[in-house]
Amino acid sequence: MARRIGALEAGGTKMVLAIGTTDGEILEQESIPTEEPKSTCERMIEWFAARDIEALGIAAFGPTRVDPAAPDFGHILDTPKPGWAHFDFLGTMAAGLGVPVGYDTDVNGSCLGEATFGCAQGLDNVVYVTIGTGIGAGVMVGGQLLHGMLHPEAGHIHLEMRADDPGTCICPFHDSCFEGLAAGPSIEARWGAKGVELAERDEVWDLEAHYIAQGVADFILCYAPRKVILGGGVMKQEQLFPLIREKVAANLNGYLGCEELKDLDSYIVPNSLNENQGILGCVELGRRALEA
Ligand code: ADP
Ligand code: ZN
Repeated sequence: MARRIGALEAGGTKMVLAIGTTDGEILEQESIPTEEPKSTCERMIEWFAARDIEALGIAAFGPTRVDPAAPDFGHILDTPKPGWAHFDFLGTMAAGLGVPVGYDTDVNGSCLGEATFGCAQGLDNVVYVTIGTGIGAGVMVGGQLLHGMLHPEAGHIHLEMRADDPGTCICPFHDSCFEGLAAGPSIEARWGAKGVELAERDEVWDLEAHYIAQGVADFILCYAPRKVILGGGVMKQEQLFPLIREKVAANLNGYLGCEELKDLDSYIVPNSLNENQGILGCVELGRRALEA
């Protein structure tokens, strides 16, 4: 029988709260602004407590501790968001609700949602890349979401700048990284307009696809995923997909003789759950916590 699970996609600006079932159905959904942690958590605890959930899954904005063995598992780490730095997010929600709580990063949540209910259903090695205000990757290996000392920061891998790039890398930490060259704010800084206003300019998307393809080719080499899913605001520019596939193929240059790579149209794909991949990932995080 389907179980009733609370799902919380916790973003830096808004919290999406939902009730879902382990069949992947979303029964109810609401969002509230992310304000200081104490009052925001009280409001969310009240919302979930009134809705009879068996478990909760949280996919949280970062940086946050996702290593279950760490003493500060489920805490938000250093963040400029008022009140949130070192806040025990998981502990607060678990104490308030008294149900099992699963916890991971936002992008891992999206990866899990697609692997459980979406286009990567049944696959156990999957990479989900979000290209929005920042760039992050959620990696599933052998059915488990990848963690180490931290959530892997694959959005900051070094990329080679293209000689004709009129812009710069805007990451404050790195001279030439994926996020600093290819996230939404970098596009805006380079071309002087938001991505959505640049839709008709081919040179914008050729360069953008060049960087995304470099990053994706590196992820394919490192993680050997059976599918790569690309989401986030920038990927709403659908013309990127064929360009990225073509450039990934050129980048790999026939080195990997895998069946999956013979059909890049079904290997490098957009998210498939109508922007509910994150919330459905939370449902699965909750289900896993209930089972554990
Ligand atoms: P966030 O990463 O903050 O959760 P998004 O994934 O929506 O949110 O990413 C926001 C970034 O994506 C912004 O830099 C924005 O300019 C860019 N963006 C949003 N929609 C589009 C679009 N349709 N085309 C191109 N860029 C977009
Ligand atoms: Zn960087």
